[in-house]
Amino acid sequence: MHTRVLIIGSGPAGYTAGIYTARAGLETVLMTGHMAGGQLMLTHEVENYPGFTRISGIDLMASFQKQAESVGVQLKYEMVKSVDFSKRPFKIKTEMNRTWTADAVIIATGSSAKWLEAKGEEKYRGHGVSICATCDGFFYRGKSVAVIGGGSSAVYEALYLAQIADKVTLIHRRDELRAEKHLQNQLLVHPKISIRWDSEVVEFLGEQQLNALKIKNAKTGDESVLPIDGAFVAIGNRPNTEIFKGQLDLSKDGYIKTHKSTCATSVEGVFACGDVQEDTYRQAIIAAGNGCVAALSAEKFLLEKK
Ligand SMILES: Cc1cc2nc3c(=O)[nH]c(=O)nc-3n(C[C@H](O)[C@H](O)[C@H](O)COP(=O)(O)OP(=O)(O)OC[C@H]3O[C@@H](n4cnc5c(N)ncnc54)[C@H](O)[C@@H]3O)c2cc1C
Repeated sequence: MHTRVLIIGSGPAGYTAGIYTARAGLETVLMTGHMAGGQLMLTHEVENYPGFTRISGIDLMASFQKQAESVGVQLKYEMVKSVDFSKRPFKIKTEMNRTWTADAVIIATGSSAKWLEAKGEEKYRGHGVSICATCDGFFYRGKSVAVIGGGSSAVYEALYLAQIADKVTLIHRRDELRAEKHLQNQLLVHPKISIRWDSEVVEFLGEQQLNALKIKNAKTGDESVLPIDGAFVAIGNRPNTEIFKGQLDLSKDGYIKTHKSTCATSVEGVFACGDVQEDTYRQAIIAAGNGCVAALSAEKFLLEKK
């Protein structure tokens, strides 16, 4: 089975790329993967995607999908198992053991947030537990929140939330932060932020909504309960790039290295867009914008190779 363009991933980046390549008259096949619609399917409300004052993640992604299908993108509800980018046409194998070839490939496999996997965390995801301050911080105006983590992203999230919430508690399992020094300096003197050192969250507590955290002191073993309106888990993010190892240049953290203005990867004809190549600002609008860039670059590549 052959297609001009094969897109891997069905988040905002993948669907946007498909809308562009299909509208350019290129046969486009899109592999949705296990999470059709991508990470936004995990969120109840999106308030920062331009054009929609407030929309559920599910409804937003349903409109992306409808638009992609309406312009001719062929969706395949399959997970890609392996790729061979050593020569063109590129080879893509799926979990159902089907092999596709494609003249250009656009990778949009996104990333996955790391969760604590503590008791109650899953129950309160979207009900007081979040992994994105930029996305959900707005809902905690004047309230009391916790940030869990000790790296730069945790400190950044705490500083960001301190602009909105009344009180921010940073909970870190060690007695020093890994964040960049200038961020630490801002954090340590911030009047709204306090730090719980040597502390681990062992349970997320509440009823319908999260309302407290059970915290254990890693040195003494003592447990305490911290009343809280919201908790932001900021312990890192993992790009979904396992299947591209050895095929494409990746950063030390596993993100696909791309040329920022074209989304080109280290292999000519393979492009990457969205969270899978974005280690700084992971937002849907950026992923969608990137998907457009990758598609336009793929179109140009295919025209030049004709
Ligand atoms: C809980 C939560 C709330 C968020 N809220 C907001 C918000 O309010 N506003 C905002 O702008 N951003 C928000 N974000 C961030 C936003 O969801 C991401 O930045 C965005 O979804 C990234 O889009 P993407 O297309 O790059 O990847 P993703 O959305 O991660 O999609 C990746 C796709 O790749 C597929 N895939 C992965 N591996 C394979 C494979 N091997 N084969 C085939 N397919 C594969 C998956 O099935 C999925 O469809 C939120 C994220 C989370 C987790």
